[in-house]
Amino acid sequence: MFKEERDTSQFHWGMIGDIAEGRPNLGATLDVAVYRLMQFTLRDVLIQQYDVATAERIYFQAGELAGRELFKNLITQKTDFSAFIKELQELLAALKIGILRVEKSDLEKQEFTFTVAEDLDCSGLPFSDETVCTYDEGFLSGLLLEFSGKKFDVKEVDCWCSGDRVCRFAVKPVV
Ligand SMILES: [Zn+2]
Repeated sequence: MFKEERDTSQFHWGMIGDIAEGRPNLGATLDVAVYRLMQFTLRDVLIQQYDVATAERIYFQAGELAGRELFKNLITQKTDFSAFIKELQELLAALKIGILRVEKSDLEKQEFTFTVAEDLDCSGLPFSDETVCTYDEGFLSGLLLEFSGKKFDVKEVDCWCSGDRVCRFAVKPVV
């Protein structure tokens, strides 16, 4: 599972396992602090061992893979864009990832502005001049890639960290 070398992804949803069977007493949820502890320590070590650019690239790619797998395994609305977004909003709220809204939408140009409130990765972090949700950029990009078959450039333009109350993502097709 994790001890085999690879050049392409070997991730599959089954790796997540049967949580109901494995955690009959503790259940399927955990404290957000634990998720952030894992994300941020891993990111810290990646920056130490490599550099910021490499850590950013790895986080984006991991987020993208997560978005693609989430789409394949949990999204049922795979053809109608509005139905897909509605299901995604409900799913992200149910999974407590965040509250997704479409702030701007130009279907002709396929350009969008998404916001995520109460974001799992950053809401409540100390103020800094950084937008930190690189994993989320990849995640949204992966979801859109699986839905449309096209690559989208997803850039976080506002973040809780940079002083906004929501994360705001500018989305446009890669040309
Ligand atoms: Zn953010």
